[in-house]
Amino acid sequence: MSADEFDLIERYFNRAVSDPDVLLGIGDDAAVLNTHGPVAMAVDTLVAGVHFPTAINGEAIGHRALAVNLSDLAAMGATPRWCTLALTLPQPNEQWLADFSAGFFRLADRFATSLVGGDLTRGPLTISVQVLGNVAESGPLTRAGARAGDGLFVTGSLGDSAAALARFANDSSAWERRGEALAAGFLWPEPRVAAGLALIGVATACIDISDGLLADLGHLCAASSCHGVVELEKLPLSEALLSSVAQDQARTLALTGGDDYELLFSAAADQDAGELGRRLGVPVTRIGCLQVGSGTSVTLHNDPVAAPRGGYNHFR
Ligand code: ADP
Ligand code: MG
Repeated sequence: MSADEFDLIERYFNRAVSDPDVLLGIGDDAAVLNTHGPVAMAVDTLVAGVHFPTAINGEAIGHRALAVNLSDLAAMGATPRWCTLALTLPQPNEQWLADFSAGFFRLADRFATSLVGGDLTRGPLTISVQVLGNVAESGPLTRAGARAGDGLFVTGSLGDSAAALARFANDSSAWERRGEALAAGFLWPEPRVAAGLALIGVATACIDISDGLLADLGHLCAASSCHGVVELEKLPLSEALLSSVAQDQARTLALTGGDDYELLFSAAADQDAGELGRRLGVPVTRIGCLQVGSGTSVTLHNDPVAAPRGGYNHFR
């Protein structure tokens, strides 16, 4: 590592860590942690132009890089504790680094997650964050465990991010326009960490929606060996989405658009969604059910409808 790299790490990433379970943080060859039992670990990479438009600001990218990872821990019912950050930059733009680290640490602080190491290299803008979190004795939540007869539930609302991406693309002024609620859904995803923890003992299976509702429901159904039915008319759609596209389009985006980072879970069918929402601290909607079989299907007022193709897959 060059002196320049060292300076940048010192300036933007080496912050005091108060967690006594971080025995060694940034500065040695590896971090050393006291995990006190099982940990969940996840890593996600964001590539500029693939996972986010290059037009969005560094602060939102910093938030997003950590948020998508915290969302994976949320889906496991894990408590975020530590993270590492591997950053590849085309050039060391200090304003961008200041913005990026501000967005990253604001979210990290909210979830008491310490940055304990990382890497800094030169190349096309790429951000990999790895997160680790404690798993309670009663956890983790997994994708397996849903049973025919369970209800299917989702937190928050779906489709905003996909609509924002399609609408704002590489127009940086549009992304930054004040009061643009659609843009906020993509720029500032909220990892449902508290909801994930509250779902332990309630959800029979859980996954976070990163690739699109139908695609991720497919993963949950495959892991649980059952069939998932989505009732189109039940999908939670935001006002921002409905005021920006027609209802049909909004439903298609909710089914297949990615980047929502809401939790999709199965639970006893008689669970009251309103009551669940109060316990989870986020609106919850019952959007369908699980049946015997495999794969997924979509109905509209109980009539089968053809599901739109979709769900994001890098290699398709
Ligand atoms: P090594 O060459 O031994 O892998 P590095 O020189 O890459 O170590 O990094 C030196 C220290 O700085 C390590 O403790 C590493 O974890 C930390 N580090 C490097 N890049 C980052 C970053 N982007 N954010 C946080 N810590 C970093
Ligand atoms: Mg290194």
